[in-house]
Parts: sequence; C-alpha cells; structure tokens
Amino acid sequence: MVEETMRAFFTFLAKNKPLIKTANKVGMELGGSSFVGGETIDETVEQVKKFNEDGIYVTIDCLGEFIHDSSDAEEITKQCIEAIHAINEHELKGQVSLKLFSVGLELGEETVLKNMKRILEEAKQFDVFVTINMEEYKNCGKIIDVFKKLRAEYDNVGIALQANLYRTETDVEKLNEFSPVIRFVKGAYKESGDVDIDDKDTVDENYKKLVKTHLLNGNYTQVATHDDDIIQYVKNLVKKHDIPNDQFEFQMLQGMRDERQKELAKEGYKMVVYVPYGKDWYTYFMKRLAERPANIGFTLKSMVRR
Ligand code: FAD
Repeated sequence: MVEETMRAFFTFLAKNKPLIKTANKVGMELGGSSFVGGETIDETVEQVKKFNEDGIYVTIDCLGEFIHDSSDAEEITKQCIEAIHAINEHELKGQVSLKLFSVGLELGEETVLKNMKRILEEAKQFDVFVTINMEEYKNCGKIIDVFKKLRAEYDNVGIALQANLYRTETDVEKLNEFSPVIRFVKGAYKESGDVDIDDKDTVDENYKKLVKTHLLNGNYTQVATHDDDIIQYVKNLVKKHDIPNDQFEFQMLQGMRDERQKELAKEGYKMVVYVPYGKDWYTYFMKRLAERPANIGFTLKSMVRR
C-alpha cells in the first residue's frame, strides 16, 4: 500500500510539466547530478573521465523520455551518435546504452530499425558497443525482435533481459543461436498480471540461473546489479568453471555503491557504470524512484553519503 502510494507519487512528479520546466531551469543540483552524467555531452565527458581515472568503464545512456514523432526520435538518434563521437574523440573507456522507445519503437519497426542502423554503423566505425535496454513487458517481444534483426547484421549490439519475468529463461535459450551479449537485470518495471515473479528471493535465484546458463553457453555477460550476494555468486561461478575475466563484466548505476564499484575494479574485474546523459534527466530520475520505491532508501543514503 505504502509502496503503491510512493510509486503513484513519483510517477506524478515524473509527468508534472511545471516541475519538469523548473528542474530544467534549476539544473541537476536538485539531486539529479549524483545519478546523471550531464545534461550536455561536455558535462558527461567530464563525469566519464573521473570514472575512467578510477579504472572504471562506463556505458553512456542516451536519455529520451518524450518521443511524440519522428523528429523527437531523430533528435535522440543524433544524441547517441554524439556520445559515440565523444567516446572516440576523448578516448574514453565507454560504451552506449539506449531504450528503443527513445529512437522510435512506438513509431513503427521501420523507423526504429533505420535509426538503430545509423547508430550501429557509427558505433562500428569507432569500435563502440551498444546495449539495448529492456522496457515494460508489453514491449519485450517487439524489442527482442528488433534486436534479432540488428544482431543478424551487427556484432556490436547487445540486449538487456529481466530476471523478474517468467519468459526470460526461454528468451535466453532462443537467443543463444546469436551468441548474444546479454545484460542481466532484475527488472525495474512493476508489471500487472502473472507475467512477472513477485517474490524477491525467487527473482534472485532466477537471476543466478540465467547468468550461469549464459556464461556456460560461452557468451559474454553483463552482470548489472548492486547485489553483493549475486556478485559473490558470479565470482565463485567463474572460478569454478575457469571462465576468464574477459567473458563478463559487472555493471552498476551511477550514484549507487561508488566504493563497491572502485573495489571491484581494483580486484581486476571489468566494472562498468551506467551514466545517463541528456536533458530528460529529471524524468529519468523520478521514474527510477517510481519504478522501484524500494530503491528510494538506497538512493537517499547514497545522496547523504556524498
Ligand atoms: P536490489 O534487489 O534492488 O538490491 C539488492 C541488494 O543490493 C540490496 O539488498 C543491497 O544489499 C544492495 N544495494 C543496492 N543498492 C545499494 C546501495 N545504493 N547501497 C548499498 N547497497 C545497495 N532495469 C530494466 O528493467 N531494464 C534495463 O534495461 C535496466 N538496465 C540497467 C542497467 C544497469 C547497468 C543497472 C545496474 C540496472 C539496470 N536496470 C534495468 C535496473 C534493474 O532492473 C534494477 O531495478 C536495479 O538494478 C536494482 O536491482 P539490483 O540488482 O541492484 O538489486
């Protein structure tokens, strides 16, 4: 009940136009700067350099929360290409992430494929890897279909899959023929109906099972979690099966567990931090809180500790 109210509250804040305007004027000092790389590419590059100095890689997430027509999708496509160019020019240790929604998923497959191919062509030229985020359950099948079409042509594209969905085990099996790079996440969206696993322990067990299957299939794996129990599980698993460190990486969100990120990098693991970039930072920030009100405690603690 409390969780539902919090979710409704942060969803309201995410969509509140006067607040969005104020946030854009005031800038990220409202709290977003801890969790967002920058509103501009120059700010983001400075943030990324700090991570790189600590031996931490990044994936720059090109935010695009308001896509009404093809010109909005075109704008975000350009923003992604700008991030790719910045990685190359500044010799950053970086990759790119994006939501297919932001490059036109809702405008039709032709639009989204066209924009993605432009991004992947550019990324290929500069040896930059691009990961497609996973969104609400209702779009999961569509996103996987687009990914398969892109993967058939490009080897610099990967996809996120959610451990809280029952379908994911089958998706991992079916995608195996593409030897895909998969980012495993627990899942940020509250789903209705019986498509998702509600119990946290069962989600955690499913996460471990999926990572194990994918790694033992010989595929590159992005382990995106702040959960020490899962991180330890992966460390033990790779040791037991002699899986080399260059077959997987750990990933966390910017602003979450900064010290742990540095420790993992020092231990010799590839540590990648997800750095959101773009003017839609406020909506991203509120949505993050709305999707999982349980994260608010961690978010506030992380803000206080800084
Ligand atoms: P949780 O169950 O939230 O946390 C597990 C444990 O981690 C906690 O019990 C605690 O011990 C520890 N912990 C967590 N945060 C902190 C903290 N700040 N300080 C101290 N301890 C902490 N979701 C999607 O649906 N689609 C995506 O495409 C997507 N991409 C993502 C990309 C990355 C790189 C990451 C890291 C997450 C992404 N997510 C995505 C979000 C994800 O689904 C989860 O909602 C989010 O990561 C929280 O889950 P968790 O695995 O960290 O575990």
